[in-house]
Amino acid sequence: ENLVNRIAAGEVVERPASALKELMENSIDAGAGQISVRLSDGGLDAIEVTDDGCGMAPDQMALALERHATSKLPDEAIELVTTLGFRGEALPSIASVARFSIESRPRGAAEGWRRVVDHGEVVEDAPAALPPGTRIRVDNLFAKIPARRKFLRSGRSEYAACLDVVRRLAMARPEVGFVLEHDGRRVLSVQPGQSGPARVAQIVARELAEDGVIIDLERGPARLTGVAGLPTFNRGVADHQYLFVNGRPVKDRLLVGAVRGAYADMLARDRHAVLALFLDVPPEEVDVNVHPAKTEVRFRDPAFIRGFIVSGLRHALEGAGQ
Ligand code: ADP
Ligand code: MG
Repeated sequence: ENLVNRIAAGEVVERPASALKELMENSIDAGAGQISVRLSDGGLDAIEVTDDGCGMAPDQMALALERHATSKLPDEAIELVTTLGFRGEALPSIASVARFSIESRPRGAAEGWRRVVDHGEVVEDAPAALPPGTRIRVDNLFAKIPARRKFLRSGRSEYAACLDVVRRLAMARPEVGFVLEHDGRRVLSVQPGQSGPARVAQIVARELAEDGVIIDLERGPARLTGVAGLPTFNRGVADHQYLFVNGRPVKDRLLVGAVRGAYADMLARDRHAVLALFLDVPPEEVDVNVHPAKTEVRFRDPAFIRGFIVSGLRHALEGAGQ
């Protein structure tokens, strides 16, 4: 059982940023209005995520730490799942490769509960005082698993990957407030209840807010919204393209290729546009379950999606240039 968990942990959790992503997605799924993240040494030493979401009762908490225990899988087809998580493997996977502590108090409950799992073994299980919500802490991820630890990079590059996760999720959920602290320094703070464009502007770049082209296009069942930077505002790396499908941050090749196609003759080959685009399609048009990390998606009609983005975005950019 433990061995199975540890092997599977590699699928979902390969570095601090992937653990952080799973924890933050759970907080979002729990309906949190505020999510606070604290990291030390890029998450290698510690990752802590605190939310004010629905919380868990002690029996739910025990269940959540069992493999394939998800409260989110409905009886209907899996493609209709709209929550971010639906495999029920993140928590047990992380708890099998780190010291993992979870404190939670459901709204309305008189007190909370705390459970500490050290590399799969429960070492503490007791009542705890905390406000409604959930706090999860992961210490020394992979520290005792040399085969995995050796793939981790420096604290600095793990930190960069964690920051990217927080930025993307914060853009995906402008209604939620986020705070990120790294080694005791506050590095990101956005208020709850922002509009999508205001959130994008605050997180990506003011230039995008001032000169960017507001995108709001529809074709058939698909809708594309967001802000696209003018070709003159570009970067040497593609890291500043923030793409979302049905509210999930993705790094999908088809979408990246479509964006490249839209800007094709407006940008030098080694330059990349800065943008944040939100594609919404009916859930049956897209499979988000391609990879456990869930950043690649598969469209039922990729040519339609590509055509929509290339021509829609190009048209919007040409209109702005006149
Ligand atoms: P999944 O998200 O795929 O359901 P996880 O292993 O990530 O699986 O989480 C297991 C379960 O634990 C969730 O289905 C949810 O019921 C509960 N859970 C996890 N994190 C939180 C949280 N921050 N607040 C409330 N419930 C949570
Ligand atoms: Mg989850």
